[in-house]
Amino acid sequence: MGICSLLVWSQFGTGVPRLAARLEVTRSCVVAADVPSGFALAKTIPVAWRAVDGELRLAVGDDVVPRREAAALLREAGRQAAAERLYRLPHQGKVMQTVGDQRVSNHYMYRGSFTRFAEWLFVHRARLGLVPLNGVRRSPVRGDERCRRCGYARETLSHVLCHCMPHSDAFQRRHNAILSRLHKAVQRDGVVTQVNRRVPGCVSSLRPDLVVTRGDEVILADVTVAFENGPHALRAASDAKVRKYTPLVHELRGRGKTASVVALIVGPLGTWWRGNEASLRRLRVSRNYAKLMRRLMAETVCCWRRQDGGDDPDVTASG
Ligand SMILES: [Zn+2]
Repeated sequence: MGICSLLVWSQFGTGVPRLAARLEVTRSCVVAADVPSGFALAKTIPVAWRAVDGELRLAVGDDVVPRREAAALLREAGRQAAAERLYRLPHQGKVMQTVGDQRVSNHYMYRGSFTRFAEWLFVHRARLGLVPLNGVRRSPVRGDERCRRCGYARETLSHVLCHCMPHSDAFQRRHNAILSRLHKAVQRDGVVTQVNRRVPGCVSSLRPDLVVTRGDEVILADVTVAFENGPHALRAASDAKVRKYTPLVHELRGRGKTASVVALIVGPLGTWWRGNEASLRRLRVSRNYAKLMRRLMAETVCCWRRQDGGDDPDVTASG
């Protein structure tokens, strides 16, 4: 029994011992595995030994694992098991509902592209609600919940990232950096753009972040960084922008223009709202640049604390 199991152990190669620590399998467990479900790994992932043609073979689920692919398949099975355990947890958090909606919101998950390590660490802790804040305590003992910077009644992540007034200058730079990227994306021949200016010839004093004029067509675009408090929160932020500029749209239409308003909503934790796609199409942002711009914008909101005043000096709009 022992010799047979030791031979089977050799199928794992040298990569498995490192994996074993995470998957709760040890050499002694495998040596003792004279029955398919007799070792600790089977409690974590659906793995078992099977007798195939007189040999013991490793199986994950219903599939017998080829010898050379054992380590990779076990690693993948471990990931799946960890994900399923995570899904079963009762509280998933509103942020993760929003983050999981669009693939680009997690584009740096594995490779960290466009993201520095400090932001990478912060974003994941923040998305999981693990940032130590006065207003979000795991302890049943309720202490002082006020914001340490401004004294607001409850120090929460949404307050710190979007509403804490001592950070208003940084919020402004974050907003302007996103607007700057959008502004550059829509500039081309035959298009007139204005940033944070009243629409010429209009009575309304509203100042959209970006006015894009192409012949008789006028598109009002506004950028907002809204906390990822569930998918409905980002949609509500977009609806609020549309409502705000509706009087200006009506005035432009009364002057014979083809007018509309679009919103670009980005979460402070790097979330890309799915409704932005329609806005990019309306603004005629090229598909290739849009692919890059989404990632850059997600990076921009994540590293706003390090920005030195925005990319474009003529972008001075307010959020
Ligand atoms: Zn505050």
